[in-house]
Amino acid sequence: MDSNEAIIEFLGLQHVNIEKVYINKQNRIVEVTVRQDRTECFCTRCGLQFEKVKSWEEKRLKAPPLGIYGEVEIIFYQLRGLCVECECSETANCKFIHPEFLSMTCGYAEVAGRFMEEITCEAVARILHTESMTMWRLDQWRMKYMEKRNKLPEKLDVSRLCADEVHFRTVDVKKRKGLFAKRRCPEFVTNLISPKEGKVISNALGRDQESLEECLLKLTDEQLDSVKEFSVDMHEPFLSVIRTECPNAKISVDRFHLAQKVNEAFDKVRRSEFRKAREKKDEFSKDMLEPHRRFILVAREKDLSIAETKLLDKLRDTNKEIHTAMLLVEYFHKALDKGSVTSFRKALRAWYLVVRESKLKPFLELCKTIRRYRTEIETYIESGLTTGVAEGINNKIKVLKRMGYGYSNKKSFLRKILQRCGYLNHNYINTNDLFYCVTPG
Ligand SMILES: [Zn+2]
Repeated sequence: MDSNEAIIEFLGLQHVNIEKVYINKQNRIVEVTVRQDRTECFCTRCGLQFEKVKSWEEKRLKAPPLGIYGEVEIIFYQLRGLCVECECSETANCKFIHPEFLSMTCGYAEVAGRFMEEITCEAVARILHTESMTMWRLDQWRMKYMEKRNKLPEKLDVSRLCADEVHFRTVDVKKRKGLFAKRRCPEFVTNLISPKEGKVISNALGRDQESLEECLLKLTDEQLDSVKEFSVDMHEPFLSVIRTECPNAKISVDRFHLAQKVNEAFDKVRRSEFRKAREKKDEFSKDMLEPHRRFILVAREKDLSIAETKLLDKLRDTNKEIHTAMLLVEYFHKALDKGSVTSFRKALRAWYLVVRESKLKPFLELCKTIRRYRTEIETYIESGLTTGVAEGINNKIKVLKRMGYGYSNKKSFLRKILQRCGYLNHNYINTNDLFYCVTPG
C-alpha cells in the first residue's frame, strides 16, 4: 500500500485518486484534493462505464480528523459522465458521501456519531469544527437509523429486573376540564433495567400498565420466564403486569422507593408544622422547616454535619411533632436494616405501635401502604440487594436531561436514554460499515 492509498483508507474514501494534499501547519488543517476514479464509475441504467466525461463537479466535504490534524477537508471532484448506450448524462454514484448530510463523508458522520453517544452535541461540534445544530440533527438521524438494527445482546442476564420511572417534563395542560382541574401535568418515562448488566433494556412513555407492558415486549417469552426477581416501586399497575408477564418472578419493593415514601410522609408533617409556625410567627421553626431545608428530609444522623445536628437538636426540643416524625423515619430505617424477615417483622410491629401513638396522619397512611406491600418488602429484605444500579442510572438520566437543556421530543429522550444507558450504541450494535456507506432510509 502506498502512502496515498493509506490516506484514502484512513479517510474512509473509495474509488478516488489523490491529486493534492495541502497541510496548513499553523491552523492544523489538512485539505485533500481527490478525483473520482473513472474506471469505477458506471451508468446506473445499463451498468456500463461512462464513455465520456461531461464535467467534474466540485464538492467540499468534511472528513474525520487525521492524526494530530483535527480539521480535514476534502475537495472532491465528482464525475458527471455521458453514457453513449443510454444517451444520457448523470452524476456518478459515490458511496462515501452521507446521503442525508451532504456536506460530510460517512466516515466523518460516524466518528461524530460515536462521540455523541458519550458527550453532548455542543462538545462534538467544538471538537470537529462544525455547528452544534447539524450535530444534533445527525445524532437524531443516527439513533433512528440504529434503532432499526437494534436488537438486544443475545446473552442478557435478566434473572433480576427492575422497573423504574423517571420524570421527563412537566407540561401545561392546554384544555383544562374545569376550574379546579390541574394546570400542569408531569410526564414520566418507565425504564426497564437489568441491574446485573447495569443497563436500561427498554423504555416507554408514561408509568402505567401499558408502559411496562411495552417495555417487556422487548424480551422473549423465554426471557420473561427466566426472571427470578423483579423490584419495583409500590405501584399497583406495575405489580399486576409483572404477575402476569413474569410468572416466576418474586416481586420486591426496593429500599430506594421505600425511603422515598417515608420521606414523603415526613415532608407532610414538616409542611403542616411549617404552617403552624408561620401562624404562630415562630421565626426559628419557620426558618428550619422551610421547603429548601432539604437536610431535614434526609435526616439520618450519620449524614449530617455537627452544625446541622445541633440545629436539628434545637428544633427537636422546640417541636415535638417533628421530633416524633424524625424518630419514626430513623426507626423505620433501622427495621429495614434488619438482616432477617423475622426480626424485621418484630421491628415493624413495634413501629406500627409507635406510629399509632404518634397520631401523625401521614405516617398512619404510610402504615397502610406498608401493610399492603409487606410481602414485597420482605422479599427485598431476604434478597438484601441494593438499588445502587437503578439509582445510578437515574442520576445519569437526570444529568442527560440537564445537558440536553430539557427534551421537548419524547421519542428522542427515550432514544437518548437507550443510547447512553443501554444498548443503542456502537458497543452493542456493529456500525463499522457506516464508516464507508449509508443506505438512505
Ligand atoms: Zn447507460
